[in-house]
Amino acid sequence: MSSKPRFWDKHKNWEEAEIQWDIRADTLKESHPIKRLKKLPNLPAIRPKTAKNLKWKALHYLAEHDKDRFFINYFFKHPFRHSYNLLNSYLKAKPFKKDGDFFLYEMETEAEFRQLLKREDTLLVIGFSYCHKPFECPSGRFTQECIHDEENPVCGQCFIGKCVHSLPEKRVIPVFITTVHHIGEEIVGAVEAYPDKEIIFLITACEMTLQMFGDWGNMVKVKGIGVRLDGQICNTMKAFVASEFGVKPGMAVVLDDTQKRVLELIELRRDSGAD
Ligand code: SF4
Repeated sequence: MSSKPRFWDKHKNWEEAEIQWDIRADTLKESHPIKRLKKLPNLPAIRPKTAKNLKWKALHYLAEHDKDRFFINYFFKHPFRHSYNLLNSYLKAKPFKKDGDFFLYEMETEAEFRQLLKREDTLLVIGFSYCHKPFECPSGRFTQECIHDEENPVCGQCFIGKCVHSLPEKRVIPVFITTVHHIGEEIVGAVEAYPDKEIIFLITACEMTLQMFGDWGNMVKVKGIGVRLDGQICNTMKAFVASEFGVKPGMAVVLDDTQKRVLELIELRRDSGAD
């Protein structure tokens, strides 16, 4: 990611930076309006027909699209350990513990994650699904890019832009997620590249994705939080597969209260001497 100075770095503390960001975002809303959801559609997280045999569907999808044999090769590096972890996760009713829009993996409480954020030896992978990029995103929606240009009026109104501009520089890997394989490879890649660090994650995704692929995260034994998206989410296999190929006509959103929770975690990471 570019090392351009971030908005938060130009202000004396978190509070001042956030106030200034929000004032600017409100002004830009008037001067450069972007497409927004008029109202939340209140869709079921997963359609009942889709919910049947979802673990099997997830396994089939991962295997079918594992083009470079990334996951299969990783699995066979430690087949007994990975089989044991996967089975343990499969035996649970859900692969996560739910706390509002936060889905906790390999943890019981958000407080545990907060402790991890404070630790020097953790490396945070923070991922943003392309499904909540604005339609007018200057980097394009279905891309692994985010220019988070401070001068750009769309970036100035974008929640992803706000998060990136408030992140500390060090011990954080931002990822702009296009597909399930993409984020999986980023997390597994970080686990392998930084054996002296504990990898933790905070990623946004639809509930269906958080449910389908949670077991695979648990197989790797990585602790983290999936942040549930609302709005025009994917809740059928057909919509999910289309979105994996960049066909996503709808707009997903992080709800306002959940945005606050995410920003609190970033603030904690920033204050923990991570910079
Ligand atoms: S901040 Fe990133 S995701 Fe948001 S509009 Fe700008 S380039 Fe797109």
